[in-house]
Amino acid sequence: MDFDTSLEYARKLDRRDELSGFRDRFLIDDPGLIYLDGNSLGRVPKDAVPLMDRLIRHQWGNRLIRAWNDEWMGLSRRIGGKLAGLIGARPDEVIIADSTSVNLFKLIAGALKQRPGRRRIVTDSVNFPSDLYILKAVADLLDPAYELVVLPVDNGFAVSEEALDRAIDDDTALVLLSHVMYKSSYIYDMARITEIAHGRDAMILWDLSHSAGVVPMACHDLGIELAVGSTYKYLNGGPGAPAFLYVREDLQARLDNPISGWFGHRKQFYFDTEFEPASGIDRYLTGTPSVLSLAMIEPGVDLALEAGVEPARAKSLSQSEYLVALWASELAPLGFTLNSPREGARRGSHVSFGHAEGYRIDQAIREERQVISDFRMPDNIRLGIAPLYTTYEELHTAVHALREVVQSGSFRQYSAVIKGVT
Ligand SMILES: *Cc1c(COP(=O)(O)O)cnc(C)c1O
Repeated sequence: MDFDTSLEYARKLDRRDELSGFRDRFLIDDPGLIYLDGNSLGRVPKDAVPLMDRLIRHQWGNRLIRAWNDEWMGLSRRIGGKLAGLIGARPDEVIIADSTSVNLFKLIAGALKQRPGRRRIVTDSVNFPSDLYILKAVADLLDPAYELVVLPVDNGFAVSEEALDRAIDDDTALVLLSHVMYKSSYIYDMARITEIAHGRDAMILWDLSHSAGVVPMACHDLGIELAVGSTYKYLNGGPGAPAFLYVREDLQARLDNPISGWFGHRKQFYFDTEFEPASGIDRYLTGTPSVLSLAMIEPGVDLALEAGVEPARAKSLSQSEYLVALWASELAPLGFTLNSPREGARRGSHVSFGHAEGYRIDQAIREERQVISDFRMPDNIRLGIAPLYTTYEELHTAVHALREVVQSGSFRQYSAVIKGVT
């Protein structure tokens, strides 16, 4: 099909979309809302509604404390085991717990102790801020002698493999990187970088927050030691839903959880005064899980498994290509820049457009056109593609909204001062 910029063409692409049936599995009450922020907070899977009702009325309501033995004790592990299928892990390598930030703390501390004597920790300057804050905090806490190397961007979006290859040396204990960059959407070559780290016997910890469910990966087969990620973005787990963590099977017996709480104990209900870690992935639990939020993760994970990560990736790629093509003809002439890779293989599931007035433009399309994107400093308007529910028509409408608020100058009535959640 030859690309054209008409609405009819967008609709034609929607008719050919093999995943289009999944949109109806989400709660979409406002057909006029163009929601392109599923990379930040995914939509509600319809199955979550009766599940929450059952959880409250039956499990919490009738079963009360008995529900822990019925269902809740195994939930972190059971849902983690399903999620493993989305990241190429084995079921007993993944568990749901805490937030991504807290899981980073646990796994960074555990990893550093696996490489005593090594002093170098490598990350990059485009990593998610919480990852950088926690990395520094853990390193300082364990030993002020750790040298934290935050590599600068050298390929436009992230760090080149050559620069990583030079930076990761025989003194490197740990490499921490995000698989997909939250601003630019750039995807690191996970296999190649893991191989570089392993060549120096450094451990690697991948943050999969922006790739789980939309970019295929093979954590176990690549021999990746550690990973963490978010469930409320492309996995549609709900606001503040607990995160996941992955620890390669063979490491679980020796990699400690520094926040050793009673849920990670081998015999939790013996109430021993000495800590003895559970065998396996359970040892990375800490305290009582937020059951209501935890349970809500399952419907989204089930949908992602049913659709399959490969088909989701194929659609996401086709939609981001479409968006980039629309940018070139409709937005570039108005001063928007493409702040994401042009090469599909290096682009995740969102596209960032740069504009000096980005924050005001983002507010204008939200207020005037019901188009929800988001804004990331200094100038990125991010359009998130959630392949299970985003349509080509929505992308078409969003691009025209961006165009029109700039052409009419209506964005000028909004404040340029950053407020609240962007
Ligand atoms: C969203 C995101 C987080 C969020 O961490 P929380 O602790 O769940 O708030 C962390 N890292 C990356 C790369 C993210 O995209």
